[in-house]
Parts: sequence; C-alpha cells; structure tokens
Amino acid sequence: KAAVKDSLDGEWETSPRSPDTSMARSPFDKLQEERKYLPIYPYRDEFLQAVINHQILVVVGDTGSGKTTQIPQYLHEAGFTKHGKIGCTQPRRVAAMSVAARVSQEMGVKLGHEVGYSIRFEDRTSEKTVLKYMTDGKLLREFLTEPNLASYTVLMLDEAHERTISTDILFGLIKDIARFRPDLKLLISSATLDAAKFSDYFDCAPIFKIPGRRYPVEIRYTKEPAADYLEAAITTALHIHATQPPGDGDILIFLTGQEEIETTGEMLKYKLSSLGRKFDDLILCPLYANLPMELQSKSFEPTPQGARKVVLATNIAETSLTIDGIKYVIDSGFCKTKSYNPRTGLESLLVTPISKASANQRAGRSGRTGPGQCFRLYTAFNYFNDLEDDNVPEIQRTNLAYVVLTLKSLGIHDLLNFDFLDPPPAEALVKALELLYALGALNKHGQLTKVGRRMAEFPLDPMLSKMIIASETYRCSDEVISIAAMLSVGNSIFYHPKNKKLLADSARLNFHMGNVGDHITLLKVYRSWKENNFSRQWCYENFIQARSMKRARDIRDQLASLLDRVEVELTSNFSDLEAIKMAVTSGFFPNSARLQKNGSYRTVKSPRTVYIHPSSGLVQVPPKWVIYHELVLTSKEYMRQVKL
Ligand code: ADP
Ligand code: MG
Repeated sequence: KAAVKDSLDGEWETSPRSPDTSMARSPFDKLQEERKYLPIYPYRDEFLQAVINHQILVVVGDTGSGKTTQIPQYLHEAGFTKHGKIGCTQPRRVAAMSVAARVSQEMGVKLGHEVGYSIRFEDRTSEKTVLKYMTDGKLLREFLTEPNLASYTVLMLDEAHERTISTDILFGLIKDIARFRPDLKLLISSATLDAAKFSDYFDCAPIFKIPGRRYPVEIRYTKEPAADYLEAAITTALHIHATQPPGDGDILIFLTGQEEIETTGEMLKYKLSSLGRKFDDLILCPLYANLPMELQSKSFEPTPQGARKVVLATNIAETSLTIDGIKYVIDSGFCKTKSYNPRTGLESLLVTPISKASANQRAGRSGRTGPGQCFRLYTAFNYFNDLEDDNVPEIQRTNLAYVVLTLKSLGIHDLLNFDFLDPPPAEALVKALELLYALGALNKHGQLTKVGRRMAEFPLDPMLSKMIIASETYRCSDEVISIAAMLSVGNSIFYHPKNKKLLADSARLNFHMGNVGDHITLLKVYRSWKENNFSRQWCYENFIQARSMKRARDIRDQLASLLDRVEVELTSNFSDLEAIKMAVTSGFFPNSARLQKNGSYRTVKSPRTVYIHPSSGLVQVPPKWVIYHELVLTSKEYMRQVKL
C-alpha cells in the first residue's frame, strides 16, 4: 500500500524537463543530449553495478523512463556484448520494431546491423547484431533451436507487467536456464509496482527502482455513462482544442482497435471541416499494431509550434510506446481482449472494460512533461465499482494448444508441474491436450508424435500447422502454404473503401465465383496476383490491399523454407480443389458446422448456433456442411473464412 501511495503522490518536478539542444551540432548529438535527460540516466552506474552484483534483477520504472531504449545500450557500453548479444523481449511486435529503430538512431548505426529486431516472419538482424529486440513469442521459439540460449549474455524480459502468455512461459524456462548458466544475466522489467511478485518468483531477486518524474494529473469523469464513447471522445477532443491555448500540449485518445480509430479519425476530420479554419492546426495521428512503420513514426514527430497533435491509439500506447508532449488523455475505458472458454473451446476477441491498473497507466501518459488532464469517458462510480483491479494474465484466458505443443517439443512433459507464475486453468490444459491428440500431434500417452514434432516447427496455430503437414498426403503443399499465409495476414486482404462500396463488392465477388469457399478464394487471389507479376496496379484494380499481399508473400516464403526443414516436398495440385479442401479439413475438422433448417449453422463440437459471416462468398448458397477458420462475435456469432 505504501508503495502505491508513493507512486501516486510522486515527487513533482518543477525544473525544466526538455534538454537544451540548441548547442547540439548534429541530429546525432541532439539525440545524445536527449538521452541524458531520461529519468534513468542518473542511475546508470548504480544500475550497471547492480547487474554486476546480481544474476537476476527486477527493474521497475514508469513508462518513458528509458528502460527499453537505454538499458541495453548501457550494458553494451559497459562491455556486456563482448561475448554474446543482449536480447530484449517485447509483448508487441510494433514495440520491438519501433524501439529497435529508435535505438539504432541513438547509436548511429543502420537498423539490422548492430541493432536489430526479430518478430514472427520477419528478421532484421545480422551477424553483427548485439542488441536484439524481439517479441516474446520469438524468443520462445529460439528455445527450439538453441535450448540454452548460449548466444545471449543478457536477457531482458521487458513489459513483464503485461503478462502475455509467451512472457509467462519464458519466466519458467529462463529461471531454469539461469540455474545452470551463472554467466547469464536476467532482467525482468515492469512499468507497474507489482514487482514483488516477480521478485518472489525469481528467488527473491532484488528490485531496482527508477524513480519517476511525474506531474499531477487531474482526473475527470463523465456525470452519466457515455452512450457512445466515440462520439464522446470526439466532442471532448474538440472541446479541449477549442478552450485550451493553442500548442499547449497534445491529446492522446485510447480506443479499442484499427476500425474504431479509422472511424473516429474520419468523424473528427468531418467535424473539423464543418467548423472551419480554427481547427486547421489539429494533426491526426493513428497508432495501432497493423499500421505500417512509416506511418507510425508520425506520432513520434515533434508537433509544430502552435499546432496540436491528436494521437488515436489502441492500448499499445498504454505502456509499450511513449509519445512525448501529451498533456491530455481521453480514455474510452475499453480495450479489446482475448477470452477463452475452456468448456466450449471457444475463443473470442471482445471489447471489454479495462482494469483500474490500465486506467491509471492511461491517465499517467498525460503527466510526463507537465501537469496533465485525463478525461475518463465513464463515471467515477464505474471506475470504483465496476472495473477490476488488475488485468487477468493471458495464460488464464487463452487457448493453450500452441503453447502446449511448443513445451512438449522442448521436452517438457509434466505440464501440471511446470513452474508457472500463475497457472492456467487445468481445464484449459486438458482441452489443449485433447485437441493436440485429435490432430495426431500427441499419442495417447501424451507424447509428441512424428506429426507433432513436424507441426512444432511452424510458428502457427496447431490447426494451421496440421493443415500444412497434411498437404503432403494430398500433394498440394504449394497451394496450402499460400492459403496458410493468406490466413495469417488476417482480415486485411480485401480493400473496402466506403465511397466505392459497390465496385469493391463486385471485384470481390469475382474471386468468389463458383461458390468455392473462402479458403479457395484466398488462394485464387494469391495466384492471380502472382500471375500478374505481383503487380501493385493489379491490386489496385481488384480492390486488394497490396501491403497485405506483400506480407502474405513474405510469410509464404518462410513457410516454404520450413516445409523444406520438415522434408515436405513443395508440390502443386491446383486442378484438384478436393485435395486442397481435404488438407484444410485435416487441420480444421474440429471447427465444423452443419446447416440447420432455418439457415443457421450448428457447430459439431460443443453445439452452438452460428452464422456465416456476411463477407463470406458462401452466404448466397449455404452448403450443408462447412468448416470455419474462426468465430467472431458481433451482433451474432459469425464464422469467418468458411469452406464447404
Ligand atoms: P520505457 O521503456 O521506460 O517506457 P523508453 O526507453 O521506451 O522508456 O523511452 C524513453 C524515451 O525514448 C521516451 O521519451 C520516448 O519518447 C523515446 N522513444 C522511444 N521510442 C521512440 C521512437 N520510436 N521514436 C521516438 N522516440 C522514442
Ligand atoms: Mg518500455
């Protein structure tokens, strides 16, 4: 309790915060000056001494204090990279990329040389790389090829408070390695104060605190719950802009996802244009995981004098990324979270209320460079009575099939006795074992089979990897990896501009021709693009997102080389659509559903009523049986990417 109070009261600083860079000779010198103004800088030597003295250290400091960007550099400067590299994990791939880019600038090196990043399906590191930023999922996979992580001298599990499933599993694996590798240094870093839990878990590792510099944040609630938080967010942003002095600070709005951010952006633009000149100086910056790198950097650019930036972000801006100059935070009170019901095996991504911990992190973003204000678009009553104190760790609300397969292939058989920081529900473990058994990845003793061993080579959901392995039997691996790659890109293949809806729809129907199902449709899209020499113009004409296609091609290339590793020949069999469908079904049979008299579908495993998603090509003529890629819950429960 004392610790929490301390953090809320803080020591409020009154001295100037921004570095005086007027004397800096070059952008590089300027960055070096900036580094010295980070809260962590005065503790540099003390920190390095602590790392020398202890094998495991828990590091706690507010978001923006310099943990992610500075600690690896300090260690590098102090010689920790002489005999190996420093790995720093991030729960989000955007953070890994963005931070690596920043650190490479600070060190004056090219990204991918001394400083690089590695995320699923994308590796920007080289022989030279000594500071490697990566997703936690990626490090988990590195255990498969390098079980003692011998190439690393330091591992920093960053953003530990996020408690992603990969980070949680890494805790257990790394704790084990640390026992027989006394030379390996471990840092567990967190932006929140629940560090005691981490310390306890790592045999009472000392906690290194970086005192924050916080300014007071004034928190305001709505009197009534907002009926529409997008509307409320826009009104609040415009109100701030209209009533506060121009250029006095930027606005950060927390929303739940890309679509919502785009809608809000458009609504804001529309409102602005109807209000005339006064709002010319409002700069809109979206920030979400799938936004291309070059657009993300817009949020980090300094705001021009007299203007105001409005950053529309997902909870990626809660702790992973820090934007300087935010004075106002508008908090919708919601985020998207994955939830999993182990009884039904149903996984869904739902918009849910945030926790108190998240609400406080969000508010804190406004008090970094001066006193801030946070507008919560919910009532004080909501905050105190309805919000949970903390987020539930991901391991307790997700499908464990992938993790169980990974652990099994690392030779960890006794999952019930794995050293979890917080154990997953036993039911979810059983469900995962059941699924892996049904897929043929485990035998009846729960041991990995040959199929399972091959499946584990793929950084994909086990149903997808089974589909790929099965394509060997049906001699259509070429087609199946294209489908897997297209599915892995997500729902961003088709481009659907609101003002050209009819044209986009008809372009899309073209690919659906023959009522072949969405998997084959995706394959057709990929093949046509390839036949047209991967042309951007072709994408444009067919309302296909070129960027998503490029990503699909990259993923496909990597899947092809993984096929090679598991010795599955690349064979093409496009004329035999049945064979391709058989391969898909070998992986996805647990997701089958049968047509009912009233036009809905009934899932076979743990029966429930579901519908074909309106975007599917199969809505017109519903087949008797379908298998689906995923279920999405909106107004009804829909199956997305369906095949007959
Ligand atoms: P922490 O990990 O403690 O939250 P960081 O090391 O991420 O802190 O951030 C330190 C500083 O570096 C922040 O002031 C932030 O604005 C800056 N920074 C981090 N990433 C970027 C980036 N991609 N572009 C520009 N500035 C960045
Ligand atoms: Mg950080």
